[in-house]
Amino acid sequence: MHDRPLAAEVIAIGDELTSGQRLDTNSQWLSQQLGDVGVEVAYHTTVGDDLRANAEVFRTAIARADVVVSTGGLGPTADDLTREALAAAAGVDLLRDAGVLEHIRGMFTSRGRTMPEQNQRQADFPAGSRPIQNPGGTAPGVWLEVERAGRVPCRVFALPGVPAEMHAMWRQTVAPAVVAASPERRIVCHRRLKCFGVGESHLEAMLPDVIRRGRQPRVGITVSGATITLRVTAAGPDEAAARAAIDPTLILMRDKLGTLVFGEEDDELEHAVTRLLAARGKTLITSEAWTQGLVAGWLAAAGAPAESRVGGKRLAKAVAVDEVSQIATDARQQAGADFGLAVGGLADTPADDDSVGADPASRVAVALAYAGGVSTKHFPLIGHPSIVRPRIAKAALNLLRLHLLGDA
Ligand code: AMP
Ligand code: MG
Repeated sequence: MHDRPLAAEVIAIGDELTSGQRLDTNSQWLSQQLGDVGVEVAYHTTVGDDLRANAEVFRTAIARADVVVSTGGLGPTADDLTREALAAAAGVDLLRDAGVLEHIRGMFTSRGRTMPEQNQRQADFPAGSRPIQNPGGTAPGVWLEVERAGRVPCRVFALPGVPAEMHAMWRQTVAPAVVAASPERRIVCHRRLKCFGVGESHLEAMLPDVIRRGRQPRVGITVSGATITLRVTAAGPDEAAARAAIDPTLILMRDKLGTLVFGEEDDELEHAVTRLLAARGKTLITSEAWTQGLVAGWLAAAGAPAESRVGGKRLAKAVAVDEVSQIATDARQQAGADFGLAVGGLADTPADDDSVGADPASRVAVALAYAGGVSTKHFPLIGHPSIVRPRIAKAALNLLRLHLLGDA
């Protein structure tokens, strides 16, 4: 009954969340914190300020998760219903705690104010629960353990929505309580491999046994702007053990994917290119008519070394696709650089609210000039420019990266 790792549910409460007026950053933060103490989060639930819906959400969470952490709905106003909902879900009364009430009243008095009547509600607690001290505000949180037949009790922690208060209460009270409730000390580690050059389904097909449900360690795949992230997750009694469980999978994936892998963790293509340029002692000049200086900007931000002359000419006017290889060659020669990287295409950059792609002539070219010649790649313009532009800038960086790798 006690040796299974704990599973958690995070509940975010508030109409401002369900109506889309505010982004639920609390759930993200809490999930990261729970992961850090070895507790896997199985569910995220978001619910508006409605008593029945809240009670239902808590009831469901108590049945399916061992640790439940909620944020929001602990304030003094009529739409703050977490205390009532929790009492209803646990099937217990809501009782006013005289000690907490005096504490809240004292906080108002110490600021020279009288406590408004409705703040009394913040001293209400489901029977059997205890307050969680809130060093940053008036509303204490609620810590309730709900007995479940034949299972570990469900530990419910209701915290305020205000992020700073929630963080402090997590650190001071909830994290230690969750660690104490865990059957064994577990650390969860994540490692990420970053890939570029094929679509995600193609890449997934190259790793048939790796991205399989139920595999240990687990591998997840996500894509952002054509950059693919493979995330490996494993748990262990300490960080070294968790990392050791991950390493063979990283080696296997690197072996299968070869140069599709350009880095790890927070690496982007510009970091990989910057490292390669520095390692080879090579210099680069870029000339971008279509990508609006994205490539040069990224490389500069990645700290491309001064001796690898990044940047330079930014063409004011769009250029024809056929001219791009000549532009790369000229730029390289004029700058006396090892590489010239040029991006150009389309007579006119489409308006930003326009999708392009119908016109077969809608193409962008990327050209890399080097000592032995020039290689050029053409890309169709399919999709919104705001999406296509960074993709083509990445493709330009990738062309250079692959060349540098072959150059070794
Ligand atoms: P509450 O505890 O429900 O009174 O929430 C107080 C304030 O905290 C809200 O007005 C929001 O500004 C903020 N807040 C509540 N829930 C969240 C959440 N899930 N993520 C980020 N901010 C939140
Ligand atoms: Mg609220």
